[in-house]
Amino acid sequence: MLKGGCVEVNNAHIKVDNLEKSFGNLHVLKGITTTINKGEVISIVGPSGSGKSTFLRCINLLEVPTSGRIWIGNEEITNPATNIMKVRQNVGMVFQHFHLFPHKTVLENVTYAPITVKGISKEEAEAKGRDLLKSVGLSEKADQYPNRLSGGQKQRVAIARALAMSPDVMLFDEPTSALDPEMVKEVLEVMKSLAHTGMTMAIVTHEMGFAREVADRVLFLDEGSLVEDAAPDEFFTAPKSNRAKEFLEKVL
Ligand code: ADP
Ligand code: MG
Repeated sequence: MLKGGCVEVNNAHIKVDNLEKSFGNLHVLKGITTTINKGEVISIVGPSGSGKSTFLRCINLLEVPTSGRIWIGNEEITNPATNIMKVRQNVGMVFQHFHLFPHKTVLENVTYAPITVKGISKEEAEAKGRDLLKSVGLSEKADQYPNRLSGGQKQRVAIARALAMSPDVMLFDEPTSALDPEMVKEVLEVMKSLAHTGMTMAIVTHEMGFAREVADRVLFLDEGSLVEDAAPDEFFTAPKSNRAKEFLEKVL
């Protein structure tokens, strides 16, 4: 047993115990407890403003939880002694708006952090970077600048860049929401391949078809509470709460 009553699961990769987050008087996360197992793919869904992004951002300490505890593997990342930079190296994040470095080429975007943060040699970083670009279907774009790419290509670069740090957890915050419809699929395909490699993934998404097909579990957040934590088929066909039913009626 861990303190706080969270039962230890051998396969657990991320454990969240009674996570609370407030911004001033705004109580955004109201006691979230869940476990994500190694290699599991979790979809996080819920209305706008329900706290989905804040929840993800707490997992890599882009936001500091107000209370509650989070473990990644055996390390309690909410322990004040934790090295936040190390945690972030191990937890890749992909954002809605890509956040690529505009003045670096695609390959430089992918190799920058491994070289500067991890101290990997340029040759090694470039070799790995080219492999990653190949795996997201962008080998031929290595020397282009981001402004020459489509949104879908930019997002695939952002995924390759996150993977270049060899994280063992990947967080995605609405990775396809800023894309034109015809580009959504190419990004979802890359994420699907990644899921098949056994990566532990947490994905905030409005792509309900993807959530249902690819996720092992769906977390439904509403007003800062984890209202449902269920297998996708169960969530989409027989949601338990009225809040989830109402949400699904709007989005499906
Ligand atoms: P979601 O991703 O589900 O749309 P968010 O986690 O972005 O929700 O936001 C949840 C609530 O927290 C919203 O009311 C939002 O305005 C507020 N919020 C998020 N980030 C901040 C911040 N840095 N400062 C103040 N309020 C914030
Ligand atoms: Mg959000």
